[in-house]
Amino acid sequence: MPAADPTIISQWQRRDRAVLWHPCTQMKDHETLPPVPLRRGRGVWLEDFGGRRYLDAISSWWVNLFGHAHPRINAAIQDQLQQLEHVLLAGFTHAPAIELAERLTALAPPGLTRCFYADSGSAAVEIALKMSFHYWRNRGRPQKCRFICLDNGYHGETLGALAVGGVPLYRETYAPLLMPVLVAPSPDCHHRAPGESWQEYSRRRVEPMAALLAEHAESVCAVIVEPLVQCAGHMRMYHPVYLSLLRELCNRHHVHLIADEIAVGFGRTGTLFACEQAEIAPDFLCLGKGLTGGYLPLSAVLTTEEIYQAFYDDYTTLKAFLHSHSYTGNPLACRAALTTLDIFEEEPVIERNRGLAEVMRYALAPLADHPHVAEVRQCGMIAAVEMVRDKATRQPYPWQERRGRRVYQYALERGALLRPLGDVVYFMPPYVITPEEIRFLAGVAAEGIDIATRE
Ligand SMILES: *Cc1c(COP(=O)(O)O)cnc(C)c1O
Repeated sequence: MPAADPTIISQWQRRDRAVLWHPCTQMKDHETLPPVPLRRGRGVWLEDFGGRRYLDAISSWWVNLFGHAHPRINAAIQDQLQQLEHVLLAGFTHAPAIELAERLTALAPPGLTRCFYADSGSAAVEIALKMSFHYWRNRGRPQKCRFICLDNGYHGETLGALAVGGVPLYRETYAPLLMPVLVAPSPDCHHRAPGESWQEYSRRRVEPMAALLAEHAESVCAVIVEPLVQCAGHMRMYHPVYLSLLRELCNRHHVHLIADEIAVGFGRTGTLFACEQAEIAPDFLCLGKGLTGGYLPLSAVLTTEEIYQAFYDDYTTLKAFLHSHSYTGNPLACRAALTTLDIFEEEPVIERNRGLAEVMRYALAPLADHPHVAEVRQCGMIAAVEMVRDKATRQPYPWQERRGRRVYQYALERGALLRPLGDVVYFMPPYVITPEEIRFLAGVAAEGIDIATRE
């Protein structure tokens, strides 16, 4: 371990600037705020080369579940490394891939009996879209070739995933490259009328979706949604009743339902999977991010026996799903995922999170009265604070003012990694966070919001 030395920081920053191109970043921003070179992580804390610590309030982009450098996951990966680091999953198989598929299908909503692996969330979404289309084609209905998605949804950055996404910031630039889709309004309860309940509003928002399905079901393969929380779309939330009614609609119109639980899966919303709160099973369940506890890139698409059977035939019928990624079902990643599931099984994670979620609720409640906060909302272990210029009319700040970035900057100075989405400050912490650390974060967020909303 090198000694703490601030000059090392600027050395790494200089070398970084010479060669790296960072994700989701205007690189010119690094002229004023260079990236923080980290040397290690432990639990919820990240540590830089100067010895400064940052509380990872957003689980390193929503992937980390049980903290950095978790002893059990570290040990499992090291053990797997001695056995088999990687092998192709076509023509060959291995225990970690088989065991993980067994356990995921057992934990998932009923009927999801088949597991197809990939290496990123976006790839999982592409697979679900292709499989749905291909299912209908194999069943003699090739005219079903369109998707319905939600406004403000997010499903990844590859072209298919981007096409079914509805966040303009990521989508608009590439619009000419994207396949056409049908877009239904979001059930996002931020827009409910004064006095209206979440349930009433989300129920009301089913109507336009019902109309789209009634008109276009003949040409539609699937509806894709993020259950309960549109995470990248500013942590907007809705009531489970929307999912229950959507499941019924999809059944009635013979259209698949794709649940993208890449961000909300593995306990984020208060249940292991968000779909549980609506007591529904989708036709495709996309998993990623927290699947490996935040260690390695792995994703999975779970689907039904009915869909699997539509591809199962003699090779010469050319019905097979000939899709692959080089690192499909990587053994190291599967072992990390298996250990993550062990932790869920052996520790009362979901129950403990209920307590932590209450601490978050209580710690953030005072911000609801802030003159520049429109709303404090929460769904399980995801809590969000929406800053606005005008509290009464909910008029947002001009995006060019980048108020959220001021919170980001302030939080870093205070030792917290908060990375607001636009003007929405949110917590989505690893589940090993303590009540005291949550209160620390809430303090940083409150002061950051004060500073960012000062004229
Ligand atoms: C992050 C995310 C994806 C994309 O996953 P990547 O691993 O970043 O490709 C897809 N859907 C949702 C809901 C996500 O939050």
